Amino acid sequence: MAETIATKGCMLPRHAEVAGAGIAGLAVASQLAASGWTVRVHERSTEVREIGAGIALGQNGVDAMRLLGAFDQAIEGGVKVAYWSIEDQWQRIVHSEWLTTELYSIPRSSLQHALHVRSRELGVEIHTDSAVAGTREGRLVLQSGEELEADLVVGADGVNSRVRDSFVARGIRVKRLDLKVAGLRALIPRGPEDPTDHMLEWLAGKRRVGLLPLDGDQTAIYMFCPPQDARGRRIPVDVASWSESYPSLK
Ligand SMILES: Cc1cc2nc3c(=O)[nH]c(=O)nc-3n(C[C@H](O)[C@H](O)[C@H](O)COP(=O)(O)OP(=O)(O)OC[C@H]3O[C@@H](n4cnc5c(N)ncnc54)[C@H](O)[C@@H]3O)c2cc1C
Repeated sequence: MAETIATKGCMLPRHAEVAGAGIAGLAVASQLAASGWTVRVHERSTEVREIGAGIALGQNGVDAMRLLGAFDQAIEGGVKVAYWSIEDQWQRIVHSEWLTTELYSIPRSSLQHALHVRSRELGVEIHTDSAVAGTREGRLVLQSGEELEADLVVGADGVNSRVRDSFVARGIRVKRLDLKVAGLRALIPRGPEDPTDHMLEWLAGKRRVGLLPLDGDQTAIYMFCPPQDARGRRIPVDVASWSESYPSLK
């Protein structure tokens, strides 16, 4: 009898409310839906934003996307990276590695699109224009004031998470790390010397520039600097200042 009740208990459909339809929110929503949960995702934007430049998908991400059945779509337009190196301003190689685990350099839009499509296939309900205000005792609270009860509430609402803020307001300890880095990511036309399956990074003082190879006629670039580096952060890019740091990449 006890076993029957326990089994029945396990079979009751469980429900999750998720804040944020980004990479984390859609990945967790898909996995829960694949495990039999009903899942509703709340996205404050008017649509799921399939945007971005290049992103590196390491072994953990590769395994997760395979498990979700979204791997092929996630790597569309990307390439498998064979080699990764970091060079300092004196052209010394400070890190180099022929990869023995899987690493893919992919358009971020492909990853977001793959998760979006897969989550809908798995029956996840996605509500756009549905901003989350926080949580309260097992409920997700929307900005409209509506409170939604769930067996699991997931805060995947990005770097300025309202869910995390609501934990602070409720006296729950949270830890926020400031990486002290400002970054720009973009797609640029592929040049003849751009890597095809190598991921390359160059250091110059506290600045970093990296290239991620993609399939087709584009390369993804990232440029990082400390937040107080005003010329480094400038948009549009201060080409003269960055060229000074990287004469060999001009
Ligand atoms: C637009 C964008 C482009 C990026 N491009 C790149 C790139 O090209 N290369 C790279 O390496 N990294 C990029 N990043 C960073 C990298 O993708 C992030 O590390 C990753 O997106 C983090 O995933 P996440 O799901 O935790 O957060 P996010 O992807 O930020 O997702 C959070 C989601 O929650 C939503 N949201 C926020 N607040 C609320 C709220 N109150 N209520 C409801 N919804 C809310 C947001 O609109 C967003 O859709 C980008 C990030 C963003 C947001």
